[in-house]
Amino acid sequence: LIAFLLYLFFLVAPVGQLVQGFTQVQSGLAAVKRIREIEDLPAEETAGPVPAPGTVPAGVRFESVGFRYGDDRPVVHHDVSFAVPAGGMTALVGPSGAGKSTVFALLERFYEQQSGRITVDGRDIRHWPLAELRAAVGYVEQDAPVLDGSLRENLLFAAPGVAEEEVRRVLALTRLEDLAARLPEGLETKVGHRGVLLSGGERQRVAIARALLRRPRLLLLDEATSQLDAVNELRLREVIAEVARETTVLVIAHRLSTVTGADRIVVMEAGRVRAVGTHDELLDGDDLYRELAATQFLLPAT
Ligand code: ATP
Repeated sequence: LIAFLLYLFFLVAPVGQLVQGFTQVQSGLAAVKRIREIEDLPAEETAGPVPAPGTVPAGVRFESVGFRYGDDRPVVHHDVSFAVPAGGMTALVGPSGAGKSTVFALLERFYEQQSGRITVDGRDIRHWPLAELRAAVGYVEQDAPVLDGSLRENLLFAAPGVAEEEVRRVLALTRLEDLAARLPEGLETKVGHRGVLLSGGERQRVAIARALLRRPRLLLLDEATSQLDAVNELRLREVIAEVARETTVLVIAHRLSTVTGADRIVVMEAGRVRAVGTHDELLDGDDLYRELAATQFLLPAT
């Protein structure tokens, strides 16, 4: 278990991919920019979400964040500002290397920005006790690993002792009830390499359930890029929408279907936020977004 936790830690530590640096194509884009000034956004919007008992969705703000991974490394975030209202779903989209995963890495405080400020609930994350911040923030990685153990162990290893009622609630929310019912020994069935193999869609939903059982106030979700069949894609979409009713969800979205369901979409390119809006607003006002949407799948080019 300890080895697995260490493995997880290294997985979530932002190793990143060596993607080509950023482009300088910024001029000419100004005309289509529809960046909503963050000052215009309410600091927190609490209407709508139905939190799980004891969960209060957290709001996030990036305020002129400048970041590079090292003094001799290229700038990854240039003056990045956007707001994620408390509750609901905000999607990050943009080409490979735009800096989306780095948003997550900074939010989890694996790195610290060189300039600007990041707040959760209006409080600078540098002032949050790290354990408190990490407890408030759940992270679901793109290719969630499945532990060689039972489905129950997979769900509960980060949240032992959660009441059975809550496990059942989360199983229903993440549309895993059918899976549990289908498995010969239900939740006690071994899964992973030495047990029943789960599909990509099921693995991601198990990872979401695992994260939810820790009652995060903010869920960072790096959506799976693997091809999902229509049923699994629909389920994932439903699950994300439902999770966004009880906590704040910030998703790096690779699917148009996820993006269209988002309350707000932040379009990043080459380390900058180039536009923020709803799907319809961006289709109207942002060329890059229109291009991404036209491909249907917002897959990284790597
Ligand atoms: P993708 O969709 O391909 O994951 P992204 O939009 O999430 O892209 P990031 O992963 O945030 O982009 O990467 C932005 C830039 O930072 C890239 O140039 C990348 O090579 C670099 N980078 C990411 N992680 C690290 C790291 N740990 N160390 C050094 N550079 C990194």
